[in-house]
Amino acid sequence: MSEEKSLNFLEEIVESDLATGKHKAILTRFPPEPNGYLHVGHAKSICLNFGLAKKYNGKTNLRFDDTNPVTEDTEYVDSIKEDIHWLGFEWENELYASDYFEQIYQFAVQLIGKGLAYVDDSSSEEIAAQKGTPTQAGTDNTFRSRSIEDNLRLFEEMRAGKYADGAKVLRAKIDMASPNMLMRDPIIYRIKHAHHHRTGDNWCIYPMYDFAHGQSDSIEKITHSICTLEFIPHRPMYEWFIEQLGIFPSKQYEFARLNMTYTVMSKRKLLQLVNDGHVNGWDDPRMPTISAMRRKGYTPESIREFCEKIGVARRENLIDIGLLEFCVREHLNRIALRRMVVFDPLKLVITSYPEAETEMFRCEDNPENPDGSYREVPFSRELYIEKDDFMEVPSKKYFRLAPGQMVRLKSAYIIKCDEVIKDENGNITELRCTHLPETKSGNDTSGIHVKGTLHWVSVAHAVHTELRLYERLFKAENVADAEGDFKENINPDSLQVIATAYAEPALKTAKFDERYQFLRKGYFCLDKDSNEEKIIFNRTVTLKDGWAKENKKVSIT
Ligand code: ATP
Ligand code: MG
Repeated sequence: MSEEKSLNFLEEIVESDLATGKHKAILTRFPPEPNGYLHVGHAKSICLNFGLAKKYNGKTNLRFDDTNPVTEDTEYVDSIKEDIHWLGFEWENELYASDYFEQIYQFAVQLIGKGLAYVDDSSSEEIAAQKGTPTQAGTDNTFRSRSIEDNLRLFEEMRAGKYADGAKVLRAKIDMASPNMLMRDPIIYRIKHAHHHRTGDNWCIYPMYDFAHGQSDSIEKITHSICTLEFIPHRPMYEWFIEQLGIFPSKQYEFARLNMTYTVMSKRKLLQLVNDGHVNGWDDPRMPTISAMRRKGYTPESIREFCEKIGVARRENLIDIGLLEFCVREHLNRIALRRMVVFDPLKLVITSYPEAETEMFRCEDNPENPDGSYREVPFSRELYIEKDDFMEVPSKKYFRLAPGQMVRLKSAYIIKCDEVIKDENGNITELRCTHLPETKSGNDTSGIHVKGTLHWVSVAHAVHTELRLYERLFKAENVADAEGDFKENINPDSLQVIATAYAEPALKTAKFDERYQFLRKGYFCLDKDSNEEKIIFNRTVTLKDGWAKENKKVSIT
């Protein structure tokens, strides 16, 4: 019997709301602002909103919170939709807060009509000064007592474009002495003569986030509006507007945002990294964006599993990026096709092997996968192995190749190193070895046991590839809390390019939707920069414990 998982606090709330009949069905929403590409923090929010609805047979809207015309763009809208689909979720409706502009405007008119909003001509400095401090009440200004008729006229004139940016704002008339500073007559509309990516030049006044978000929730009849903890102080405002307008009572709930070690998680900062050329675009595999993780070879399954594992917290925390990498490895181990690639070649000649001969070895694609698929790997007299799989003067526990020492070539033969060839400068250029024909893999009658198994590639069949190895983009574990500008913590060695590696021929037809484990080296995927002339692979993630452990595993299977 499977263990019953305890409910998180949101699931408890939903179950109770369904049980009491408060809601017949739940409707959540994911509300991105289309001002950048989604990152792994958004993935958490997506998994939460869509996951919760799915679990309780509800639905989820995708709503673009596009109330700020200046920073938004349709490029971002498209990427956001692609990312959500790729993560494996389907939205019920694709909606835009900007589609509600007329209705939100009418809500504002309604508030004015009830004496609950006023046009304020003060400058932003004056408004800030009048707001008081957390321990001192704010002060009313003369505009606060404007008549309803004046406010209605002025607001209409604001909409008509009579005033310049910043000349006037519309404020809710709540309480200038509220202990919650946000309730001290928040600004709900500002003048901005700016082109909007959807509404064009129809509007020159735009609602503030707090006057658009809750109302949009309410218009859509969202039952559970889930956001991050920093919106707790906004909740009274959210409720006040809904109550004063007498509209559908959507409810706001807050959870802790995802913070991850060695990572910045704000679109604003990520945009800086892109604009300042620290990375090559939003989908540079070093970025924490969903598009970058996709390009790097992460799978949607592994990201969903990660989000499930971290759960839903109500207090700020910092998640180890190693946990995400763990989830990626776990999934890739199950699905990745095993391939052999030599990163730093050393030529090896098997003098006992006929010159003209090529043998095809049948090698399993993935020993973890019972489907038994395989590929053929050519073996011939001249091979590449890794330079660091040979030591001329081996240390005691060195089980790889050394003069007079034997190793197994993965899926092929046991070989013995007879001779080391060097150039005039004393650099090793070639190893001469002999093979033991009776040790052929799968049919070994020799009874000889060796401790080391090496990967290799036949020289004549090798496919040249470029490899891109990624390290963490930041040196500091907690980038947000580190001293100085976050860019000072950028790791200068986050990308290493191996211009020519040698791959077994099966990789010549590598596909974008396939994942690979390069034996003893790591998990890799085909990069989109690949073309007819050049095949490029990204390292998705390293193998768990480096050489020793992996080598043992390779020898067994
Ligand atoms: P950023 O500061 O990175 O721009 P944001 O919160 O401004 O993020 P939005 O597009 O407004 O970005 O966010 C869409 C949804 O994703 C919101 O509901 C927000 O709470 C959620 N979200 C954003 N960042 C995180 C995070 N790190 N962890 C969990 N949820 C997040
Ligand atoms: Mg935002």
